[in-house]
Amino acid sequence: MIKVAIAYPSSIRVALQSLSVHIIRKLLSEYPNVYADFVFIGNNGQSITKSLKDFDVVIFSVHYELDYPRILKMMEISGINPYSSQRGINDPLIVMGGPTLIANPEPMAPFADIILIGDAEVLIPKFMEHYMEYGKDIEEYVNLTGFYIPSLGKHIVSKAFAKDLSYSIKLIHDTAIELGLSNVKSVFSHSAILEVMRGCPRGCLFCMEGFIGRPVRYANINSIKNIVLRDANKDKKIINGVSLMGLSVTDHPGFKDLMDFLVNNLGLSVSVPSLRVDSLDEDTIKLIVRGGQKVLTIAPESSERLRRALGKGFSDDDIASIVISAMNAGIDHMKLYFMVGLPGETNDDVESIINLLLRLKRLGIKYSLSVNPWIPKPHTPLQWLPMASDDVINSRVKVLEDLRTYIEFSTYNILDAKVQALLSLGDRDVGDLVFEASLTGLDRGSWRRLLRKYENLLNKYVYSWKPLNSELPWSHIRIPGIEEQSLKVLLLRYLKEVNISISIN
Ligand code: SF4
Repeated sequence: MIKVAIAYPSSIRVALQSLSVHIIRKLLSEYPNVYADFVFIGNNGQSITKSLKDFDVVIFSVHYELDYPRILKMMEISGINPYSSQRGINDPLIVMGGPTLIANPEPMAPFADIILIGDAEVLIPKFMEHYMEYGKDIEEYVNLTGFYIPSLGKHIVSKAFAKDLSYSIKLIHDTAIELGLSNVKSVFSHSAILEVMRGCPRGCLFCMEGFIGRPVRYANINSIKNIVLRDANKDKKIINGVSLMGLSVTDHPGFKDLMDFLVNNLGLSVSVPSLRVDSLDEDTIKLIVRGGQKVLTIAPESSERLRRALGKGFSDDDIASIVISAMNAGIDHMKLYFMVGLPGETNDDVESIINLLLRLKRLGIKYSLSVNPWIPKPHTPLQWLPMASDDVINSRVKVLEDLRTYIEFSTYNILDAKVQALLSLGDRDVGDLVFEASLTGLDRGSWRRLLRKYENLLNKYVYSWKPLNSELPWSHIRIPGIEEQSLKVLLLRYLKEVNISISIN
């Protein structure tokens, strides 16, 4: 038997809410000679549920930059040296994957034997087949699409992607049902998760998920209907609701048809993620409300001027009319997402956000506001630009917080945002910071101290303009359909629209 750990650098409660760990387990369960088990961080944050040393292979599923040091901690607790160069043949092979590493694997490059760039559905089977033939001889993996072997130096890796979602629809659906029945208290409860699309056709300039999720793939609506019918007919207790997953689900050409089927034909409750304002109309909103959704979430992001420059072409009037349609359909609570510290943002933009919020408030429903710092992200057209200073972000957040046009106000901690930016944008030299962080309690005091110590890296990767003709730390990672040249064109258009002039170098 080949013993494989599916490791998630967080507690069981958080980890089991990530579908990816269940998908990986399902994929591994198709091999009779593979024994797979989950390994998580214990509730006290200092232990792990099983030693990783007992496995032949450890696959880390990684979704959040701030979890990077926890990965190292899990290795350290297991008696495994975090640095791949210090490990031997008796140590497990350390494999990592997930969206943040697809975007930029370099900060974790010193620690991984293999980093998977792409979709688990194609990469995990390919990995297992190769492991059965070549074991830990990692040079044998270097020519496979989507396999990055950091110890061999930077080499060009193209993202491997599942061409259609039929396998994953089934997989996700079955997994969610299993999860719902296994008494795991999770966000899924008895909802079946249905992945409606992967990637996003919109290309908002700040959105890493949208760019690295390419190419855009839509699930076949008839396949989804058949899968849901199968289980809905079997036993109502198996699924009493459906959660639709995808970056911009209302952009699916069959979205209304699917909603009509789930809500009107089957009488299921349906939950949908954040919705794109310009893909909504009265009928769609009514269907969503009939499906039991109590709170509608939209992301105006910024002022109308910056919103348009970012690629979200809807106006403040469009937002107000969506709120009115939502109210007419019975919604009395909206959640709104905004970003502050965007390049080219002025006091007038903040003033314009305030005017929009006051206008919406007069409509008389409740709002929850989430105001977060903009963080430059790899593979987006804004990747060359610096993050705003603490002072700018704090002052913007404060102005909006003081407005009190909402019932709830939340914001992403600015220190966490800086750490996230550094781990997102850094090169291999940021690995030292990740290692040092793993030796601390990962509290904010430790991060503050580390950011002071590594201020040069913060200035280099987070707070400076990157020359347009320079190699970026992630330039060797290729996302299908995205050329650096086309990102530059989008950047220059943005800069022109927000009145920032630069000298091209
Ligand atoms: S619509 Fe949403 S998911 Fe799609 S690119 Fe824009 S922000 Fe990203």
